[in-house]
Amino acid sequence: MRKALVAGNWKMHGRIEQNRVLVDALLTQLSGLPEADIDVVICPPQVYLAQIKTLLQGSAVALGSQDVSRFAADGAHTGDSSAAMLNDLGVRYVLIGHSERRHEQSETDEQVAAKIASALLSGLTPIVCVGESLEQRESGQVTDMISAQLKGALSSLQRAEAEKLVIAYEPVWAIGTGKTATSEQAQEVHAFIREYLSSAFDEDLSQSIRLLYGGSVNSTNAALLFEQVDIDGGLIGGASLKSDEFTAICRAAALSTING
Ligand code: PEP
Repeated sequence: MRKALVAGNWKMHGRIEQNRVLVDALLTQLSGLPEADIDVVICPPQVYLAQIKTLLQGSAVALGSQDVSRFAADGAHTGDSSAAMLNDLGVRYVLIGHSERRHEQSETDEQVAAKIASALLSGLTPIVCVGESLEQRESGQVTDMISAQLKGALSSLQRAEAEKLVIAYEPVWAIGTGKTATSEQAQEVHAFIREYLSSAFDEDLSQSIRLLYGGSVNSTNAALLFEQVDIDGGLIGGASLKSDEFTAICRAAALSTING
C-alpha cells in the first residue's frame, strides 16, 4: 500500500515573521495526524529553508526545495544551489520541472533530467512535475504530452533510481486558476502514468511509486481526488499558505491511506 504524501509549494511567498506564524499553526493543527498514514512536506522559497528547518525541528514534517541546480559539482554557477547543499541543510524532497519553471525559466526536459540525476546523487527525493496546457488538452494531446515529459525525465534512469521518484500530475490550466481537474480527469491521467511506468520499467515499480495530483486542490475537492485509486496525495500551491486549508487537505490524504 502506498502511503499518502502532501507537499505544500509556497512558491514566492513568505516573510520571516509570517513563516513562523504559519509553521507554528500548521504544526499545532497537524499534530493529530498519524505519521504512519501520511508524509507531509513543506517547500518554502530557498532563502527561508534554514528558518523553516529550525521551525520544523522535532516534527515529522519534512523540508522540500522548490528547485535544485542541474549541476551536481560545486563550481561557477551563480545563483544556483546544488543538491548536496540542499541535503546539507536538511532538505529531503525537491520539486523538479514545475510548470512555472518550465515556462518562466524555459526549463527543458534535458534540464529536468539533469536535476533529477543530481537530486538522486545527493539522496534527495525528486517530485517530478508533468502536465499539459489547456490547448494541448483541448486538442487531444494529453497523453502525448505526458509521455514526452516522462520520457524526457526518466529515460536515462536505472530502475533503482526511478523507484525513488514521486511524480506529480499538474495540468497547467489548473495551477493557481481555481479550475481543478475533475476526479475522473485526474484519475485517467494518473492511470496513464502508471501504465507508462509499467512499460518503461515494470508493474511492481509502477504500483509502488507515489503519484500526486496538483492544481487548485483545496479542502473541498481534496477528498474526492484522493479517493481515486491511482492518486496518492497532492502538490498544493495556494492552499498551502493557509494552515486550516492545508491541514484539512492533509487529513483527507491520510484518510485515503487508511481507507486504502
Ligand atoms: C502548484 O504550485 O504546484 C499548484 C498546484 O498550485 P495551486 O494549488 O495554487 O494550483
